Amino acid sequence: MLAVGGFVPFTTIDFPGRLAAVVFTQGCPWRCGYCQNPHLWQTDGVSGGDTSWAAVLEILETRRGLLDAVVFSGGEPTAQLGLAAACTAVSDRGFEVGLHTGGAVPERLAAVLPLVDWVGFDVKAPFDLYEHTTRVPGSGDRARESLSLLAASGVPFEVRTTVHSALLTPDALRSLACELDALGVGRWMLQPFRAEGAPAYLGASRYSADDLHTLTSGFRGHREVRLA
Ligand code: SF4
Repeated sequence: MLAVGGFVPFTTIDFPGRLAAVVFTQGCPWRCGYCQNPHLWQTDGVSGGDTSWAAVLEILETRRGLLDAVVFSGGEPTAQLGLAAACTAVSDRGFEVGLHTGGAVPERLAAVLPLVDWVGFDVKAPFDLYEHTTRVPGSGDRARESLSLLAASGVPFEVRTTVHSALLTPDALRSLACELDALGVGRWMLQPFRAEGAPAYLGASRYSADDLHTLTSGFRGHREVRLA
């Protein structure tokens, strides 16, 4: 069983090159101050929508041949006991499986990697500075372990980082670029924090797209700065 917090029946932006539906899972063990989905944090008996996992599967039956893929997003999908079974249920219906994760539960990520076709991995900071963003001790070690597992798995993936100057100093960005490079990451998408999306306590980010390119030049793979 999967705890579903929301469902988007059609998207072109959540799995590169695929028409997909997105299942937002309910529950996240981290507490990022800038989280845009805090209604998906709680795990006990809370639902952000009217859609149960059984109802999602019924909808997917009517989308065979119309959608390429189903993406599990969150919240944090690896916090779900039923994630592997849900991935199998999706592929049994003929869809590819996408996963958006921050890698909070490495052992569950390891279990589902053989079942997924693409991963968008959210990296928040150099791993020894994670707690500053997630407000959870040990989160950086778990994220690093998960990203190492993913990089070694052969599953296509990209790393995504949302950057705000109040959370990532220039030195932190340079350090993160080198850490991702050392882990063998091939694609890194950087997204400047949108002024209108930032909580008031952060204020506006001081980085331009050019700043981000310059500060992350230690990463030798494919880099893009995505402007929302
Ligand atoms: S990991 Fe993602 S869902 Fe969880 S608190 Fe942070 S931003 Fe929100």
